[in-house]
Amino acid sequence: MIDGTQNATTPTNVLFVETNDNYAMCVDKNGIAYGQSYTNPGWSPAPLPSLITSLSFGDTRAAWFISGSAAGDNPVQYVAYIGAPQTVTNVSGVQVSVGTDGEAWVLQSDGSLWRWNTFAAVFEKQASSLTVTRLAVADQNLQWGLDASDNVVQRSLETQTWAVVAPGPGTSKIVDLSAADDGSLYVVTADGSAYLYVGGDQTWMPFGGSDVPLRSLSVCDTAHAWGVAQDGTLIEIGTGSTQAEGSQLAPGTLGWDTQSVFDETKSTHLYLVNRAAQLASTAQSPAGPFVAANLQPMQSPPQAGTFRQALCQGLRDADFLAPYNDPNRLGVATYASHFYDDTTGLNYEGEPEPTALTNGVKFFNLSVAAMRQAQPDPQAGGYNLGLALHYFTDLTQPMHSGNYTYLSSIPLGYHTQFEEYAMGVQATLVPQPTVVGFVPGGVNDPGQLYRAASQHFKATYLDQVIAAHKYFSWYWSPAQWQAAVLQLLPAIFNDSVQNTSQLVYLWATLVQAPHEDFAPEAAGVG
Ligand SMILES: [Zn+2]
Repeated sequence: MIDGTQNATTPTNVLFVETNDNYAMCVDKNGIAYGQSYTNPGWSPAPLPSLITSLSFGDTRAAWFISGSAAGDNPVQYVAYIGAPQTVTNVSGVQVSVGTDGEAWVLQSDGSLWRWNTFAAVFEKQASSLTVTRLAVADQNLQWGLDASDNVVQRSLETQTWAVVAPGPGTSKIVDLSAADDGSLYVVTADGSAYLYVGGDQTWMPFGGSDVPLRSLSVCDTAHAWGVAQDGTLIEIGTGSTQAEGSQLAPGTLGWDTQSVFDETKSTHLYLVNRAAQLASTAQSPAGPFVAANLQPMQSPPQAGTFRQALCQGLRDADFLAPYNDPNRLGVATYASHFYDDTTGLNYEGEPEPTALTNGVKFFNLSVAAMRQAQPDPQAGGYNLGLALHYFTDLTQPMHSGNYTYLSSIPLGYHTQFEEYAMGVQATLVPQPTVVGFVPGGVNDPGQLYRAASQHFKATYLDQVIAAHKYFSWYWSPAQWQAAVLQLLPAIFNDSVQNTSQLVYLWATLVQAPHEDFAPEAAGVG
């Protein structure tokens, strides 16, 4: 849009920021606009008038802005990205908001709403049944707003009327809102907190944690997102990585990294399960030898038997197949069931199920049942145990037991960075977990083991894992947070192997229990 011929300048005292997936612009406290393209990073002053009070662009055609010093409404103008001079439209207003498809709306100080008619090239006044005080246009099908009581409102496409959809989050007033590329709504409140609107029981999901109190934000997708801290510092919230883009706004992402079925150097889940199986194999007969014979730690095909092969497949499929990764309305995996915080009993979406507890216990029980048939089914037994162990080992990643997601950090994606780093160093830089000297924990209920893992890993490690990022992330070099995490990983991995071996041992014990001893209800196997 802007020919970046001027010298790069880092804007200070920024009031607000706006981005799509090509371009970001911000406006400082003097109303001066700056722009930068993602393909040519570095801020440059934008050739727009000064005294800008509102600015928005969604598509690749034009940036819309309001500038002027009048109290209340000022002229609404736009500038085409290439060539065309800035153009004054037929209205004045206090806010202009533009969607991804170029849909443009203007809000006036008296609450009047105007919608751009592309063909007539004029704004047309829209009837409104309630008073809108702030707009966030997603596209021509979806417009968000706020009313005077801080409720989130939405315009219905069919009836063309505005209606309240939810109260704002908490007691602090909403001060900014942004509609992302996929239509989701992000808001900032006066206390500096940010939230994603998720609807349902939870309504709002905290976004960006408490790392940096914000005054404004603009989210296009997880790769292209910016915030303005309360002190006026600009912060790139998005990761800029194409991987994040591929995962859209899926807040959970993968959990411990799982990129290969049989290669444990490409799967932390498999790394942990192999060692847990080695450890459980040292249990006394009959459970120990039964674990060794079925789980076959470290084996790959062709040495790996049916049970082992199915187990490794299940361990991996939990991340990649829809029945296990919880796609949202848009078909994007959310991984909600890979999370469970036992202090609330909920996943990060605020739901009591599916969670790592409910899914984990379900597949654990299916595995036990398959292996207790008169004719044991090692395919179903192995696959379901693989799924169950995936959910269990997720809970030994402290962020999964504390509902700390991809969206919980600024910049986004510390969750994923942590997991990728852990996988990268697990075999080389981390002292290896203990895999001998198994001691049975005496627990007969798989659910109890899942719940205990959630409690323990959240309470013992989550604060430290987050602290490693808070002080060493974007202000400092990645080497610094990684050094802090490297100090934590030996204990986390060793602890994970110990806890996971208890689940493996329980599985073997239940599969082998004589029928007269086997009480499914008491054992939580229904
Ligand atoms: Zn997972």
